[in-house]
Amino acid sequence: MAGPFAHLADDLESIRQKNLYRSRRVIQSSQGVHVQIDGRTLVNFCSNDYLGLAQHPAVVKAFKNAVDEYGVGSGSAHLICGHSVIHHALEEELAAFTGRDRALLFSTGYMANLGVMTALLDRSDAVFEDRLNHASLLDGGLSSGAKFKRYAHADVDSLAVHLQQATGNKLVVTDGVFSMDGDFAPLDDLSRIAKQENAWLMVDDAHGLGVIGEQGGGLLEYYGLSQADVPILMGTLGKGFGTFGAFVAGSETLIETLIQKARTYIYTTALPTAVAAATRASLQLVIQEAWRRSKLNALTQRFKCGAGQLGLTLMPSSSAIQPIRVGGSHTAVALSNALFDAGFLVSAIRPPTVPQGSARLRITFSALHDEQHVDQLLDALGKIMHD
Ligand code: PMP
Repeated sequence: MAGPFAHLADDLESIRQKNLYRSRRVIQSSQGVHVQIDGRTLVNFCSNDYLGLAQHPAVVKAFKNAVDEYGVGSGSAHLICGHSVIHHALEEELAAFTGRDRALLFSTGYMANLGVMTALLDRSDAVFEDRLNHASLLDGGLSSGAKFKRYAHADVDSLAVHLQQATGNKLVVTDGVFSMDGDFAPLDDLSRIAKQENAWLMVDDAHGLGVIGEQGGGLLEYYGLSQADVPILMGTLGKGFGTFGAFVAGSETLIETLIQKARTYIYTTALPTAVAAATRASLQLVIQEAWRRSKLNALTQRFKCGAGQLGLTLMPSSSAIQPIRVGGSHTAVALSNALFDAGFLVSAIRPPTVPQGSARLRITFSALHDEQHVDQLLDALGKIMHD
């Protein structure tokens, strides 16, 4: 008789056979434009540190100073004794930055999404999600117990039909900038339909906040939307802000509800205070250094233009996420490996992260890149893709 979980080894083999096996690369250097792997230096085109703040001296200094003063661990959950004056100040600053009544820190974006949806929804409610939403949003919707519907990507008409048929409280949930495609959710139309159908709209702007909009206000700034249009805004701190963690911003009632009911908030250790201190410093840079966004846009435009000249088909993205869809997982991995050999770190994204048959290279830019990096990447892509 086979022992328990005897199928695991077979499962792994089957993942390998399908070219879907995931392996980690060990980074031997600090994170930055250049990273070292296997003793080789590569130009990094797969980080989400879009503004280049993860290594910024002011952010690092704030972190170090706070470690000296507060130590490393926060000691407990926020509701016990883990909520420091630094966490509190950061929440107030994030509320002001997003133009909302309040903000609440979560230890990760994944937990924020799970926490919001499980706190707000139950079996008598309904949640509507874009088909391409991030896994944490899908998991949040599924774990909430609410009726769960996925609508076609960015398809407001398909959403409207679903909404009209639903009962109970209705929550529409979408990525702002889609994490694997880089395109923008049609938030203006989504908020209009949501209001019309008496639903709330929740936006996960993990890849937009800090990065999109003249002031870094993300997709809500881009569309000119307020708290009344989008009652729930989730942002992560590990991407544009260059640190770690996440927050939810919205009304007093929303935030107090999360404090009382969000299990991923209540039952977990608060972020280290030093992470909050570092994020306060990076938030100031996000606000003050608009040149980082302009530079990122210029680099992205340069890439799009060069890729067009090479005859490469890009996806309809105007963000710093520029995927090249290649279809098969085997092809995506082969291209990523060829780029690696040429000195560029670009990740191959495969199912189940993206739908079957839509494996891709996901290229991301950072304000720390310069034009030469972009041109070198284009050069390598030109050679590799046309081989
Ligand atoms: N939402 C989106 C759209 C994301 O891309 C991510 C991170 N990949 C998350 C949520 C999760 O955030 P975190 O890494 O802070 O858990």
